[in-house]
Amino acid sequence: MKKNQIITRIAPSPSGNLHIGTARSALFNYLFARQNNGKFIIRIEDTDKQRSKKEFEDDILEGLKWLGLDNDNLYRQSERTDVYKKYIEKLLKNGKAYLSKEESKIETGKQVEVVRLKNPNRKVEFDDIIRGKIEFDTTELGDFVIAKTINDPLYHLAVVVDDYEMEISHIIRGEDHISNTPRQILIQEALEIDRPKYAHIPLILAPNRSKMSKRGNATSISEYRQKGYISDALINYIALLGWNPGTNNELFAMNKLVEEFNLENIQKGGAIFDIEKLNWFNREYIKKMSEEEIFKNIKQNLPENILNMSEYNDKILKKIIPIIKERINIWSDILKITKEGDLDYYFKQPKYETKNLLWKTDTDLNIVAKNLLKIINFLENISDNKFNSDEIKKSIWDFAEKEGRGSVLWPMRYALSGKDKSPDPFKLTEALEKKETISRLHNAINKIA
Ligand code: GLU
Repeated sequence: MKKNQIITRIAPSPSGNLHIGTARSALFNYLFARQNNGKFIIRIEDTDKQRSKKEFEDDILEGLKWLGLDNDNLYRQSERTDVYKKYIEKLLKNGKAYLSKEESKIETGKQVEVVRLKNPNRKVEFDDIIRGKIEFDTTELGDFVIAKTINDPLYHLAVVVDDYEMEISHIIRGEDHISNTPRQILIQEALEIDRPKYAHIPLILAPNRSKMSKRGNATSISEYRQKGYISDALINYIALLGWNPGTNNELFAMNKLVEEFNLENIQKGGAIFDIEKLNWFNREYIKKMSEEEIFKNIKQNLPENILNMSEYNDKILKKIIPIIKERINIWSDILKITKEGDLDYYFKQPKYETKNLLWKTDTDLNIVAKNLLKIINFLENISDNKFNSDEIKKSIWDFAEKEGRGSVLWPMRYALSGKDKSPDPFKLTEALEKKETISRLHNAINKIA
């Protein structure tokens, strides 16, 4: 064993998708290993044959990969039965454990032979890096079962054997495992093996301080992935669930986290999950992306019905990126704004009732038609290389002031979008460009006539 090498592990049971709490434990283990030039191991704890499923293992491994938590080794407990057997036999031989014939808890009337650890019945004490000294009286644990048969170890035994064989130096895991630690220490002592260091991290709690539940916020990483969160944003956010850098900095890329992370700054109290804050992080990461990347992502997330519109083209999409960016936190928000009808008018002529072209206080559609015609004139006089929202505004503004802003700008905007709410008419005009804008304004005039 190479003394002093830092080796950490994440040890998920594949009985569900990758949970946000497991992802955070994995991140802390990963960061601690990487900053110490150590190793980070993934160990799939699939000894429970009933509850373990391949699809969950796949989800967990894909999720960790997506988050960028690359590992140095991957193990499956189900492939290591022989290893555990050796240790169980050792315990039986040196009298630290014994076989016990008893009634099966699952099948009534059936006799089974389990392996029980001989509990020395004494106080166990350990120093937790986060929580300090923790003491347990193990008497109440009795001679607990460590294997169903010699070939079928239970969780505690498998964990202890693996942590030893894999030379794990630090066990960083959720504080729900604190109560498991005394049992695991008793097994270590019975096997006369070294004790790793422990750091139990606070749980992630829902805003009402209850357990993160399925009904409230999403708990699995794959759900966040499907919703269109950026992995770096999610990593940044979960790093701060329970850990803080000791400064006001909040934005940390992975390499910065590797530099800054430390176990000492992990808090003891529960970490409250705040979806608004996560959304804020995601937005910050979108802002940091290049125009090209944003375009690629927006296009990927545009629903088919938009992409199939006759007037869809990349050029318009590129022009409305600032408008879309303003309204999204995550990529799936694009679907939301599409459903609200806020994107399709860029790619097809809007349908609307003619009377809606009238501003609140106006009654005469003929005046609307006159104003729209005037606007067309102004637009035609702007040269193509100056066709931007500032110039468009400049050319129309005086006229709008004179005739009444509402009477001029409302019908202009409505003719372009067919919506009560949309970006201002100058931005719309710039995005739609001269030809399309003028065609829509003509359409409105024709409708009035
Ligand atoms: N397999 C355990 C779980 O998924 C973790 C064991 C450990 O970290 O020691 O909760």
